[in-house]
Amino acid sequence: MSEEPRQPQRGPLTTRERGIVAAWSIAPIGVAMVAMSPFVLADRASFADLVAASVVYGGLVALATGFVAYDRLQARQCPACTARNPRDGVACSACGYDLARRPRYRCSENHVVTLDPGTCPCGRRLQPLPEPRGIGREVTGMLRVGGWMLVFLLAVGLVLQWLN
Ligand SMILES: [Zn+2]
Ligand SMILES: [Zn+2]
Repeated sequence: MSEEPRQPQRGPLTTRERGIVAAWSIAPIGVAMVAMSPFVLADRASFADLVAASVVYGGLVALATGFVAYDRLQARQCPACTARNPRDGVACSACGYDLARRPRYRCSENHVVTLDPGTCPCGRRLQPLPEPRGIGREVTGMLRVGGWMLVFLLAVGLVLQWLN
């Protein structure tokens, strides 16, 4: 093992992982279509209406779910060696990097961000950075808002249909 402090890296997604992201980016549109299909069956909306509404409302949720799926898959990748780790890995199974705390270091002149303490190429000592805040929680919140928005829109649509 070299003495050079390692720099964070991101490997490309595998074909299987890309498939997961694609599925999450499409599934909500299908779900919206199924959820709204009773309107077409009851002859209250045309098939074109159904497709348009599904793409608009389902598409909004799909953007969020696709992004979350991508973010979660990236989070399982070790930033030091890009090995895949199980969801709750504390240390990378391949290189031992601390995946729970994900320590990062930087010199006072912000030259490079590294995963190990040591010396910056400029000769300054690398200082620990504050722990990164997971964006996962914010994304999950966003997704929940998106989901409720879809439910709300469906409910409004339902009420309007009944009023007609
Ligand atoms: Zn690793
Ligand atoms: Zn430096």
